Amino acid sequence: MDLAPIIEKLNTGLFINGQWRDAEGGRTLEVRNPANGSVITTIADGSEADALDAIHAARDAQAGWAATPPRERAEILRRAFDLLHERADDIAAIMTAEMGKPFAESKGEVTYGAEFFRWFSEEAVRISGDFTQSTDGKNRLMISREPVGPCILITPWNFPLAMGTRKIGPAIAAGCTMVLKPAQLTPLTSFMLVDALREAGLPDGVLNVVTSSSARRVVTPWMESGIARKISFTGSTEVGVNLMKQAADTVMKTSMELGGNAPLLVMDDADIDVAVEGALLAKMRNNGEACTAANRIYVQKPVAEEFSKKLAERIGAMKVGDGLLEDTQVGPLVDQDQLDKVAELVDQAVDAGATVLTGGKKIEGDGYFFAPTVLTDIPENATLRVEEIFGPVAPIVTFETDDEAIELANGTEYGLASYLFCTDLQRSLGLAERIESGMVGLNTGLVSNPAAPFGGVKQSGLGREGGSTGIDEYLETKYVAVPRANAQ
Ligand code: NAP
Repeated sequence: MDLAPIIEKLNTGLFINGQWRDAEGGRTLEVRNPANGSVITTIADGSEADALDAIHAARDAQAGWAATPPRERAEILRRAFDLLHERADDIAAIMTAEMGKPFAESKGEVTYGAEFFRWFSEEAVRISGDFTQSTDGKNRLMISREPVGPCILITPWNFPLAMGTRKIGPAIAAGCTMVLKPAQLTPLTSFMLVDALREAGLPDGVLNVVTSSSARRVVTPWMESGIARKISFTGSTEVGVNLMKQAADTVMKTSMELGGNAPLLVMDDADIDVAVEGALLAKMRNNGEACTAANRIYVQKPVAEEFSKKLAERIGAMKVGDGLLEDTQVGPLVDQDQLDKVAELVDQAVDAGATVLTGGKKIEGDGYFFAPTVLTDIPENATLRVEEIFGPVAPIVTFETDDEAIELANGTEYGLASYLFCTDLQRSLGLAERIESGMVGLNTGLVSNPAAPFGGVKQSGLGREGGSTGIDEYLETKYVAVPRANAQ
């Protein structure tokens, strides 16, 4: 695939108050392709002063934007949805080039990501309030919902489009202005998203984007500005916790989509082929670099051998390569750090006694490739039993009873997604109720859906994105008391 014509058309500056511009001092940083380490292009490296310009633009646009008719906001989202679809091939190619996932998966993310715009275009015109009276009958109580105000949005590299649209969609629908900091590894997809929104008619200053080689340099001035009323962050728990502490200083509303370490339970009555298919999807999608990835696969003893053998056959047969090549099923990891982390977790488990059914090592040569891996006989002291594995590694642990399965599944500080393979209805629902996670996939390896509330419990986060409640994160409730002239 020839990327040159797409790259040539890319805007790569800062997007502030409706204009693309250079960073202060003309500073730039490189964006690289993880499949071969080559430089795709250079982008603006924003400074503290650039960050302040962006949040000032968001502040200045807020009142006018909040007053825009809901139908107008909805139409902008709907037009942007169409534009993303029209440009799906180009966006997916750029996404694969900067992030590594196979092209078909990048196209899938464009469809999934665009759907948040369609979903929230429909929600924008359905923001309702309430009208009631006080218990003593003396007051009318008018309850309305208003945009929370300027928002800080921070997105990770693993789903560069969808993590943006999942925040920008409801913010636009609610009438909030925004400053966005995309991950420095994958900014190009966000630039294409900005162009679609601009062409769809988004007014100047509503969305401002600053990229930087230092997240802190941009985000700290935003947090301390006293202008932002909300932060929505998707990324690691460690960074999320720090941002929550900073948000406390100005009592900012927070949405936190943080780390996950999803358990996948295969019970002895499961349809094993369905469970293998589900595990493949839940583990290997996005090169294993997903917050919803099944990182802890627990299988009941009577079916463990059959499940492990079938999963290892399927994972061992996956074609690894540059995501832009047609038959690639697993692309490179996003960078050298990520590759080293995955290799270290696997090496430590193997040194401690784990058995490698397939894969188990880095693939030598250019790019950050790790062989799709299945491990069994994993000892209790293996770090990958507790740490989030961001890579194509499926560790299998066996259990005897349902209670033991629940104890293993819940034995983590995380609680984002979980997966359960079981055919008995009562047993399935009973187990699903006992798993501590925001989302449960029952006989499926995919939980993400724009119409569903996405989010976690415990240290996986606060708040929900998408679904009918997704817009609430960007709204505040206001009530006006109106005395009744003829009250008794
Ligand atoms: P990360 O290091 O926390 O980075 C996420 C974003 O935060 C990036 O834009 C990053 O900028 C920025 N950032 C880093 N340090 C910061 C700081 N001190 N202040 C403000 N912003 C800062 O996470 P990641 O490695 O990119 O993403 C992987 C993690 O995200 C995993 O734990 C995964 O589970 C989680 N995740 C969760 C969800 C969910 O919905 N729950 C979805 C996807 C991913 P730079 O790029 O410049 O470092």
